[in-house]
Amino acid sequence: MKNSVIILGSTGSIGVNTLEVISANQDNFSIFALTANSSVENLSSQCKIYKPRYAHVSREEDAKKLSLNLKNMDLNTEVLFGRESLNALVALQEIDTVVCAISGSAGLESSLNAVKSGKKILLANKESLVMCGKLFMDLAKESNATILPIDSEHNALHQCFSSNDEKFVQKIILTASGGPFLKMDLNDFDKITKEQALDHPTWNMGNKISIDSATMMNKGLEIIEAMYLFDLKLSQVDVVIHPQSIVHSMVCYSDGSIISQVSKNDMKIPISYCLGWPERISSCVNLIDLTKSQPLTFENISKERFPCFYLAKEVAAIGESVPTVMNAANEVAVSAFLKNSINFNDIYKIIYETVEKHNKEKIISIEDVFRIDNDSRIKATEILKHYINL
Ligand code: NAD
Ligand code: MG
Repeated sequence: MKNSVIILGSTGSIGVNTLEVISANQDNFSIFALTANSSVENLSSQCKIYKPRYAHVSREEDAKKLSLNLKNMDLNTEVLFGRESLNALVALQEIDTVVCAISGSAGLESSLNAVKSGKKILLANKESLVMCGKLFMDLAKESNATILPIDSEHNALHQCFSSNDEKFVQKIILTASGGPFLKMDLNDFDKITKEQALDHPTWNMGNKISIDSATMMNKGLEIIEAMYLFDLKLSQVDVVIHPQSIVHSMVCYSDGSIISQVSKNDMKIPISYCLGWPERISSCVNLIDLTKSQPLTFENISKERFPCFYLAKEVAAIGESVPTVMNAANEVAVSAFLKNSINFNDIYKIIYETVEKHNKEKIISIEDVFRIDNDSRIKATEILKHYINL
């Protein structure tokens, strides 16, 4: 029997890479459904190739355009739109595997519904764990859902953890590329353009995560992601900059051994690991030739250069509702930077001020998460007004 897959966010960077891996393993997988926000043309082309049973977009007007395209292609794919139909779609019994590859907090609700239905979850959407990691993991335990991380560092850790018993783990080390501004003069940071920030030296990713990598907020989010995925304390999570992006993270054991996962920097590797788990399938990526790799270097993270990273560490230590607030403020600030409305350095200031004004509270339910996310966006948008470039 083929494994039946839904890709949430199939037109994005992770979505497209997942489809490539599935194309190379057609005997094992079938595409049951594909979803996108509004990229109707890309989604139409994907439907033509993969002939899913369902295709989903956010808005009705896009659903109409998609239906027309698919009708012209003579496809039987049913077109759906809106929040509720997406929540119902991910829970359908015919689905074995859900790839959660929507970017940002928009991916939370569908990911949670997939978790509740006890599926095999391939989680790229790290924001879900930052917003409500405890709730997310508790739900997974209750429903018996399997969570496999696509994020390359956490995927590497998943691979390293399986080699030894958890009780011998001392700590983990996440690696970070350092992004495009690792060596830039600090005096030039206020002039950083959107194009420079999107030009990541080692990974080709969607816009939001590329900006997060440039500020290194991404690594802050990943600390929180790792704490919930692997049940670790903040003191057990170290981060080093490794600009070559070849060692994808490490687990340190109590006897002084460090186990790492090493490969080319291609997201098809973590994606194929998750799709095939517990077996291995083809990723279509060749082994890395270590004799041809640059020297592998590791360095500490400068506080002056990457304040977002250190803010995220403080936020991780406080926990409760504060990571949810930070995540919302980050999304508001990144989106404004991508519209050229604020400077690169303002991203940190907006997040810091939003977090500072928040009074920590306990997150009991998913309604709490949505309320805090929404309130924080309103607060961050107010703060942002003081930074808008005229
Ligand atoms: P992307 O921007 O390239 O793609 C996002 C996808 O989500 C698209 O298909 C888009 O149509 C869909 N989408 C966006 N907003 C939506 C909304 N409101 N409702 C429904 N669908 C929506 O993003 P990406 O780089 O593929 O990243 C996806 C997730 O994976 C993010 O959480 C990111 O942090 C994580 N991730 C990505 C990479 C990478 O290499 N790209 C690596 C690690 C983790
Ligand atoms: Mg990562």
